[in-house]
Amino acid sequence: MSFVRYSAVCFFTSALLLPLQAQSVARNETPAVTNTAPVIQVANPPNSSLQQSKPYVVLVSLDGFRYDYPRRFGTPHLNALARNGVSTPDGMLPSFPSLTFPNHYSIVTGLYPEHHGIVGNSFYDPERDAVYAYTRPESNGDGTWYGGTPLWSLAEQQGMRSACLFWPGSEAEIAGKRPSYFLHYNDGLDDHVRIDQVINWLGLPAADRPHFITLYYADVDHAGHAHGPDSPAMRDAVHHLDDIIGELESKLRATGLPIDLIVLADHGMIALQPPVVVLSEFANLDGVRTQGSLLYPKDDAEAERIYRDFLAHPSPKFKVYRRAAMPPDLHFDANPREGDPVVVPAGPYTLLARASKLPEPIQVHGGHGFDSHMMPEMKAIFFAEGPDFNRKKRLKSFENVDVYALIAQILQLRAPANDGSLKPVEAALSKDARKRRPQ
Ligand code: AMP
Ligand code: ZN
Ligand code: ZN
Repeated sequence: MSFVRYSAVCFFTSALLLPLQAQSVARNETPAVTNTAPVIQVANPPNSSLQQSKPYVVLVSLDGFRYDYPRRFGTPHLNALARNGVSTPDGMLPSFPSLTFPNHYSIVTGLYPEHHGIVGNSFYDPERDAVYAYTRPESNGDGTWYGGTPLWSLAEQQGMRSACLFWPGSEAEIAGKRPSYFLHYNDGLDDHVRIDQVINWLGLPAADRPHFITLYYADVDHAGHAHGPDSPAMRDAVHHLDDIIGELESKLRATGLPIDLIVLADHGMIALQPPVVVLSEFANLDGVRTQGSLLYPKDDAEAERIYRDFLAHPSPKFKVYRRAAMPPDLHFDANPREGDPVVVPAGPYTLLARASKLPEPIQVHGGHGFDSHMMPEMKAIFFAEGPDFNRKKRLKSFENVDVYALIAQILQLRAPANDGSLKPVEAALSKDARKRRPQ
């Protein structure tokens, strides 16, 4: 197929941030690998004796690992996880928009993006009059942008140590806490070194040893953007990360600790159909603040005027809603950071507010960010294995906000009210694990 010659990688991606996307694609082809893991240690209290008696959860995200890649490409190690534990053959449902930061943060807070506040990889906040950009340490490391209580903060609040080998939000102090151990994001950190760091943490004395650990890999997402979901490069990236899971699994087993391993993804990937759709060709956006495809008019009258412009110039490639009238199942109607009106792609198209924001051309084949109800290609993998999981259990599709309750249940942590529920995932847990109460 032909490719889009713009680095507009994802719907909602901010043009401002695309140079990093371009770099990461380039890095993927000639990896500049780093062999040291510079861990930042936070002076949190040690594990209480109660927490020391609890199991361990290792939560792995393989960014952009679509739910059907195991069937399409063959993944012996993930298949073994499915045999020994839990799988979700029809995929886990991402929250809207199916982008990296909103979804990783939904998984660890149990909140839809508009409730935790990270509504895009980058967005504007009209109340703060400031932009959040996932590549900028000033915003990505500033806890005042983030709502909810991520699992690492929940654990630390209750006297249980946690560690993050990368996860969106993990570089900020949120809900008054940071993980006891974390690293600044480095796409080039060697894949095996990441595993060894996790094993290292699990080898610490019981009082210091984290019980909740995150681990992250972007290889499959990079391959999907650069080469598309059907490419030989994708097959290679899938096989590589499957091998990494095999290595992780056997090293975790060798620790002899009661570890529950969860392997999931934030979203899937679809072949994009060029060309980029430029919204200012359909509505007059002169003087309107925009971020990617998000629109931030100065007042309600301007929002209504833009909406009417779009109604007068319809396109089969997108739908436009006043924010308050967004379809309820998208859970994207209540936060001013979402802009108004909201433009939702009707197919695998990259939407951008303005042509002037089109950045340096690079080759992009794949993208995500779309509504998973309309595009099943957005669905993500979910596998789990360990002493608290049933064997050979296949779950029906569930929403990624339900993972919060699942992990809180395993670790017996008291969880705040959230958008998810244990119900859809409860069958994954052993009888014993289901019976436990927070303590
Ligand atoms: P997306 O296109 O939405 O999947 O965004 C993926 C990009 O986010 C990848 O290029 C990753 O390298 C990058 N990324 C993932 N986690 C982090 C993080 N914690 N901090 C900064 N960038 C990240
Ligand atoms: Zn992602
Ligand atoms: Zn991506």
